[in-house]
Amino acid sequence: MAEKLKIKWGDCSWEEVKAAAEQGALAVAPFGSTEQHGPQLPVDTDVHIAYRAANDGARRAAEQYGVRALVMPTMPFGLALHHMHFAGTVSFQPETYMAVVADMLRCAVKHGFRKIGVVSGHGGNRPGLQLGIAKVVNEYRDRFPLRIALFRGADDPAFAQGMRDIWKDEPSEGQISIHASRSETSETLNDRPELVCRDRLERPKLLRETVPEWWWMTHELSETGAFGDPTLARPELGEKIWNVFADGVARFLKRLADEPL
Ligand SMILES: [Zn+2]
Repeated sequence: MAEKLKIKWGDCSWEEVKAAAEQGALAVAPFGSTEQHGPQLPVDTDVHIAYRAANDGARRAAEQYGVRALVMPTMPFGLALHHMHFAGTVSFQPETYMAVVADMLRCAVKHGFRKIGVVSGHGGNRPGLQLGIAKVVNEYRDRFPLRIALFRGADDPAFAQGMRDIWKDEPSEGQISIHASRSETSETLNDRPELVCRDRLERPKLLRETVPEWWWMTHELSETGAFGDPTLARPELGEKIWNVFADGVARFLKRLADEPL
């Protein structure tokens, strides 16, 4: 039987990681966040999203494009200070986070990886990720070039179209739906249904109609920590979202593989 290609960094021996780097494999660094996701979802929702998007994307990149990528273990903590009012949230301070991101990336570089795809399960991580990436790329600039990219759906028209196709025939959630709303609830109903607290599925009454310009705390916007209308969530929607993410990350890794150093 043909050996299944190893995608997970953690499944490899040190010799296998070394060989992958020497063969020009990409490294993929998934960054999650342990934070409240309303009364209905587990606090590791964004950890699972980062893990699944990165691993499914790398698997698809190998199968569809012949791109070899090794997915590092998922960092379970990120920047979630705005959720700290709610129990279960674990957040780095911004300066700690930037240092942690840079350290993770430096280790991949030290082991020979020159192209790294960063996948985040939580929008709030983005500023820290961008700073960590900038720091590492600039540190090495005079020695050798690096290509370290953060996956953003907005940069990929096919991803944006895939998301629009999912929502075009669905009813509006009727209020801001930035977090722990229909989409994340659908994803969880799809692949980890036992973790959804179904008796706590409810449409939250929000305290603001729009997302403020100033730096807000989540409890200033939502009493329960949820947004949108989680009661509209369905497992089939979750399946479609996982698919669009896997395809989007696979194309992202292909673009990175094609980029000359
Ligand atoms: Zn989330």
